[in-house]
Amino acid sequence: MKIIDIQACVIGRPEPHSGGSVWTFVRIYTDEGIYGTGECNSAAAMASGFAVKQAILHMKPRLLGKDPLNIAPLYEELRRSGRYGGTSAPPLIFAITGIENALFDIAGKALGLPVWQLLGGRFRESIALYADCHFGDGDEPEAWAEKALEVIDEGYSAIKFDVDSTGVGQRDAWNWSVSAEEMTHIIGLVEGVRSAIGPEIDLAIDCHGKFDLPSAITLAHALEALRLLWLEEPVPEENVAAMAQVRASSSTAICTGENQYTRFDFLDLLQQKATDIIMPDLAKAGGLLEAKRIAEMAETFYVPVAPHNVSSPLGMMAACHCMAAIPNFLLLEFHGREISWWEELCDGDKPFVRQGTMQVSDSPGIGVELNDDAARKLLWRGDRYFEAP
Ligand SMILES: [Mg+2]
Repeated sequence: MKIIDIQACVIGRPEPHSGGSVWTFVRIYTDEGIYGTGECNSAAAMASGFAVKQAILHMKPRLLGKDPLNIAPLYEELRRSGRYGGTSAPPLIFAITGIENALFDIAGKALGLPVWQLLGGRFRESIALYADCHFGDGDEPEAWAEKALEVIDEGYSAIKFDVDSTGVGQRDAWNWSVSAEEMTHIIGLVEGVRSAIGPEIDLAIDCHGKFDLPSAITLAHALEALRLLWLEEPVPEENVAAMAQVRASSSTAICTGENQYTRFDFLDLLQQKATDIIMPDLAKAGGLLEAKRIAEMAETFYVPVAPHNVSSPLGMMAACHCMAAIPNFLLLEFHGREISWWEELCDGDKPFVRQGTMQVSDSPGIGVELNDDAARKLLWRGDRYFEAP
């Protein structure tokens, strides 16, 4: 089997509180009529959908004529691009991730096996999700508590709120020192949620790397009694030693890694003892095999994996295959519960999300396909949809 064409297109629509919802999809066509589709996270500010698409098209000549089943060497060729060391630079690694996912989709379809089987078998058939609750519908503890109860009612036993942009008492847009007013407000919001949901629901808090070191340490301390599942990116991800300082300062568990890529970035996080939980984004961290390597390395540090996820059903199912195939899976994020068209964008065993879980597909390949009609309607800024060569 040979690769005969590679196409990419940008699909989605920015929704409020969606974490992006604009994705770059890559489709790889073979001479045997089988094609595979992979998703790249392109929601992050550092990589627009078209930048990722351009990166995919740039790599196309390296892949044409190659055997799509030779996944690991093809991935490594793209990652290294002729150097001894490899790239972990967005948007290149985002593009490589989607290409690798598409190759797994082809391999599964060609061999008649689901991707979890190709990754070595599964530890679980269904993937537990946590729901991202964003900012709630207001910046008062009552509104946050109400939102939390609404989500738990849908079947989730773990939820997450964002505390970095309440705007209350913020000093200014450039200074990340949290004022006493803002700190008091944030702590009140989290306390309000905890007292509403009780002690048996897992509660995580995301700071999006917006705070400085003293603010992060103060917050981590102040939330200790609320027994958070984790405090996420309390300081920016750029300085791993600073993250390690926050972690060492309190008993609040730290989770980070949504802006770190490949096993090399995660080796640094783990060696510096910067985090209790890692959260690679499987649509941009470097492919399913790379994510499995990351997870297995984390396992040797007794660190669990709770991936960041703002993907469509296709990218999310790809992540589920990988999370089924590792022992140290904790929870997978779900960002789409407020996006009305999220389920419609793809075909597969629907609904994809039920009672706070996602069943891992047993169909060959990833087991989820773009719905052509829905996807065409959501083409981003006039982009062109896939066309079989
Ligand atoms: Mg986050």
